[in-house]
Amino acid sequence: MENSAVTVAVRVRPLNSREKIENGQQVIFMDNHTTTIHHPDSKQSYSFTYDFSFCSFDKTDPNFASQQVVYEKLARPLLERAFEGFNTCLFAYGQTGSGKSYTMMGYGEEAGMTPRFCEELFSRVTNSQNKDVTCHLEMSYFEVYNEKIHDLLVVKDEQGQKRLPLRVREHPLFGPYVEDLSTNVVSSYADIQGWLELGNKQRATAATGMNDKSSRSHSVFTLVMTQTKTEFVEEEEHDHTITSRINLVDLAGSERCSSAQTSGDRLREGASINKSLLTLGKVISALSEQCQSRKKVFTPYRESVLTWLLKESLGGNSKTAMIATLSPAASNVEETLSTLRYARQARMIINVAKVNEDTNA
Ligand code: ADP
Ligand code: MG
Repeated sequence: MENSAVTVAVRVRPLNSREKIENGQQVIFMDNHTTTIHHPDSKQSYSFTYDFSFCSFDKTDPNFASQQVVYEKLARPLLERAFEGFNTCLFAYGQTGSGKSYTMMGYGEEAGMTPRFCEELFSRVTNSQNKDVTCHLEMSYFEVYNEKIHDLLVVKDEQGQKRLPLRVREHPLFGPYVEDLSTNVVSSYADIQGWLELGNKQRATAATGMNDKSSRSHSVFTLVMTQTKTEFVEEEEHDHTITSRINLVDLAGSERCSSAQTSGDRLREGASINKSLLTLGKVISALSEQCQSRKKVFTPYRESVLTWLLKESLGGNSKTAMIATLSPAASNVEETLSTLRYARQARMIINVAKVNEDTNA
């Protein structure tokens, strides 16, 4: 057993073209591990220290954090833990437009953490496999939208009929899981790429007002890696397996119900996104309180689909990292400040992770 705090990183993106036109003023500044935000109205400054403060604001900055830098510092260590047999989880938190999907999935040439992680995983598997070690990989990809779970790797039927949402069940040993979720055996990075493309295409459509669907849904990409090592002890064959579950999560936008969400369906959608994110906030604060007081604190995992499913990753047997994405612009200062506070709280969580192993003769 090994204790470790959840690794928490923040990342600031460049000003976008709209912010540049508005003559957007930069309010986020980073120095080593520290992120400082200048409030344009109150003129106050607030500083926060994280495991990493990634500055992706300006390419000419010598400390510029490219996708590769973020990958090497934040995601690769998780890959290493996964090979050792730990469960791992990386999730992106932040307001819509702050760079969650850019960081997790990436756009075009700028591949994000998920494809980089999978690519390196396969190149390591290919290089290390010998006849005594085999590695089996399965992936699944789903989204939580309006508190309902949808498989992103199952294509809607010919009539475009919507499938029924899937349900969460709880296994006494392995914890919560999605019932009837499709799992796909993958044996190369190209396999994964194909599935990712399909899932991403199915994820976001229906643009509505200011927020499109992807900003209201959480997507969860899961890889289950089973390594089996065959050893001969006194001429008897022993199989030793270690299993790790890897969750890569792109959360819905963290902003509150905005003015774009006014009535009916919109309101309900907004409200339940808040429910999952609200509960995530409650879970994070309960866990950090528990770690500080060393007393058992009730953690409301089951109050939302997302927190229930991420239970093991948040407060259980997992090596977990969070990346909170930030807009650099003055116009977003309040949201950014609340993201910085959320991230600070997450840093107080300590998970107890253990290798999932199984030996049988
Ligand atoms: P979110 O998923 O948080 O709603 P996106 O990841 O889609 O936001 O990012 C919004 C826009 O900002 C996209 O056009 C994206 O390419 C751009 N962007 C986000 N982060 C970065 C970054 N670090 N570097 C360059 N462009 C970025
Ligand atoms: Mg997104």
